[in-house]
Amino acid sequence: MAKRRKKKLKIKNFLLVIIVIILIIIILPKKKEEDVVVKKDLSTMTKDEIKAYGDENNIKVNEKYEYNLKVSKDNIISVKEENNEINIILSKGDYDDNYYREKKVNEMGKVPIMMYHGIIDTEDNQYTGGNVDKNGYKRTAKAFREDLEFYYKNGYRMIRLEDYIHGIIDVPVGYSPIILTFDDGDADNCKVTGKNSDGSLQIDPNSAVGILEEFKKKYPDFNVTATFFVMNGIFNQSQYNKDIVTFMINNGYDIGNHTISHPDFTKISKEQSVKEVGKMYKILDSYLGDKYVKIVALPFGSPYKKDHANYPAILSGTYDGYSYTTEAALRVGWEPEVSPFNKNFDPTFLKRCRAYDNNGKEFDIEMVFKNLEKNRYISDGDKDRIVIPTKEKDNLNSEYTNVRTYEEV
Ligand SMILES: [Zn+2]
Repeated sequence: MAKRRKKKLKIKNFLLVIIVIILIIIILPKKKEEDVVVKKDLSTMTKDEIKAYGDENNIKVNEKYEYNLKVSKDNIISVKEENNEINIILSKGDYDDNYYREKKVNEMGKVPIMMYHGIIDTEDNQYTGGNVDKNGYKRTAKAFREDLEFYYKNGYRMIRLEDYIHGIIDVPVGYSPIILTFDDGDADNCKVTGKNSDGSLQIDPNSAVGILEEFKKKYPDFNVTATFFVMNGIFNQSQYNKDIVTFMINNGYDIGNHTISHPDFTKISKEQSVKEVGKMYKILDSYLGDKYVKIVALPFGSPYKKDHANYPAILSGTYDGYSYTTEAALRVGWEPEVSPFNKNFDPTFLKRCRAYDNNGKEFDIEMVFKNLEKNRYISDGDKDRIVIPTKEKDNLNSEYTNVRTYEEV
């Protein structure tokens, strides 16, 4: 009896083993299939694994190398499977000197801060080039469009004055920053002709902002922006002033302080100076809260010297209970400013270039940009790192530590 039982048990065990083996055989290939699916997630694979995967599945694998600061040499920056091909971008690691030499990178170069006033929609200008008045302060709409074309085609890309002051220069590698400013709040800076049914502004396409908006569409990579320095009358369109400043802030422009009544600071008292600056800030505050820039464009570019007794009143004070601190002050200058990384950079005494024509003389646009060919700021494309030719090292503000130098020749 016992023997028969044992035999029965043995058969049972044998059958169990068989069943388990069959089950394993059924499950195992499924597992393998799953493996293949997992392997298709190329992002988890090494370069060699991707190549092997390509070979196995008859998929062409293309390799491309790019410089990259964050991904170390020979590692994968990105991998994509498209049109039955696999494109891998691999890191060349950090840029080498050749790369910077080729791009002529120099983040110790000079930056033009252009000074505009009115933009007049007329071709009937009796003065030199695109000048509308004797001193070339106002400019024709046509000339302004030509200026913008010229800047764009010569590799300049706009940055905010506010960003320049803070050492933020975000333009692609090989390109140079340019800053636009407009003084006096002329109505033709942003001429409003009415409102659309949805409440949006109808802006004269030949006013400064109309033309800037046109270039925003024409060249999306121009990074169109500008800072407008206004007085008591804002944009001298009382009906629309509030709408205009709101439109500007919402569309990438900045509003700054050009004083209440355009005085020569060297001809008024310290108290009057405080009122001219402080009251204007207070007005901007009532329009925009804290969304205006704490920058003053000095009327007539005066004082010419920073040690003038009224200069401290331009930089800080309290008017009618409103305390202000000015981050930067703009003069009327003749040449581009130094890099914000230069040890001599002084945001509270910045030179501007007059945007006017004078047959290539007296620091007109043509002369300024011709001179800039010798020393223009050229970006490395990484706003967080400063790349300069070794010979510029002594000009560097030592506060900046993320610096890379290279030999020019
Ligand atoms: Zn002015």
